[in-house]
Amino acid sequence: MTSRMPIKFEILAEDKVTRARAGLLHTPHGVIETPVFMPVGTGGTVKGMTQDELEALGVQILLGNTYHLYLRPGHELIREAGGLHRFMSWPRPILTDSGGFQVMSLKSLGRVTEDGVWFRSHLDGSSHFLSPERTVEIQLALGSDIMMCLDECVEYPASHETLQRAVSLTTRWAKRAKEKVSGVGCQVSGKDGTGSGSSDASGTEPDGNLRASPDTWHLTPDTFPALFGIVQGGTDEELRRQSAEALLDLDFEGYAVGGLAVGEPKSEMYDTAQFTAELLPRDRPRYLMGMGTPEDLLEGVARGIDMFDCVMPTRNARNACAFTSEGKVILKNARYARDDRPLDPSCTCAVCRRYSRRYLRHLFVAGEMLGAILATHHNLHFYLDTMRRIRQSLLFGEFAEFHCRVRARP
Ligand SMILES: [Zn+2]
Repeated sequence: MTSRMPIKFEILAEDKVTRARAGLLHTPHGVIETPVFMPVGTGGTVKGMTQDELEALGVQILLGNTYHLYLRPGHELIREAGGLHRFMSWPRPILTDSGGFQVMSLKSLGRVTEDGVWFRSHLDGSSHFLSPERTVEIQLALGSDIMMCLDECVEYPASHETLQRAVSLTTRWAKRAKEKVSGVGCQVSGKDGTGSGSSDASGTEPDGNLRASPDTWHLTPDTFPALFGIVQGGTDEELRRQSAEALLDLDFEGYAVGGLAVGEPKSEMYDTAQFTAELLPRDRPRYLMGMGTPEDLLEGVARGIDMFDCVMPTRNARNACAFTSEGKVILKNARYARDDRPLDPSCTCAVCRRYSRRYLRHLFVAGEMLGAILATHHNLHFYLDTMRRIRQSLLFGEFAEFHCRVRARP
């Protein structure tokens, strides 16, 4: 047992028809209103947005990518700066992934073993090893509010045998991550400022794992992060059940549904999200990783999901694709050359209040960086506003109607 302060999840409203719920997630860096969308701040930045703008847009929590930050500038450098919050001047909560997804999606660059995963840096080809313990160490150095366990995410479609193997490995890794966090948590909550007292300068064990030691100076029991387990099992209900049950035994502070949005049909994705969410405890936050479109947010919430992240609003914006209340708008399209309407006539964001489609199209066609910046601003506003409306409908007890109304739109 440690005396560190875990995150706290409060449910404020539950829909009577669907599985949707609204709540508050208390974290070391503030309270998050759920359901929540987390913009992706890959390398310590949401591309094109300043932190001032993100705050003004109402971003409550950012996702940081462990893989990218580990390689550049390096987690030690960020720890030295006092953690990722101070390094990037972001006072609100941060969730970090384990790095595993990036490593394993760089197929030719990664190799999965029982101990962890070997990979080559996409930057310089150098060789690295990520174990369940190591990824916890790196995330502790980053000082995020919510850390994710290393898991094995397999492609779709995958054989039953492959999925079963990934579930078993993910469970063993989750146990190791949990043990690592418990060990460090004890040190941090103890008053021993020198940690284990190890004088080994490198702090590296033969298996490549960093020792938890003086390296946690920037953490206190009040800022010690939570750890979420990740349920795997593809679209197989029985495997999802096995995975969830094994993780529940380990008692995580929150649970993620992983291994979705990897190419499976939408209906299977939604079904899997639903039956997986039903396996998870009501009083813990549920996070659907890497999904999705604005419709996916609504459908995910309806199935009992509380947290979402996706690169789509930001990545698509840089490719001149905007999400609007009337569907996607491809800003490079010639038909907008003389279009004086705002990007989305029913949007209240700073971009839609000021600029025309005609001007935005020009920026993209001319390769001006302002195009990507403005489209990113709008898309993030659209996602956050969608989530705010979903949450409000839940608090007013009108989610089911809201859900039907939005789904009925052409
Ligand atoms: Zn807008």
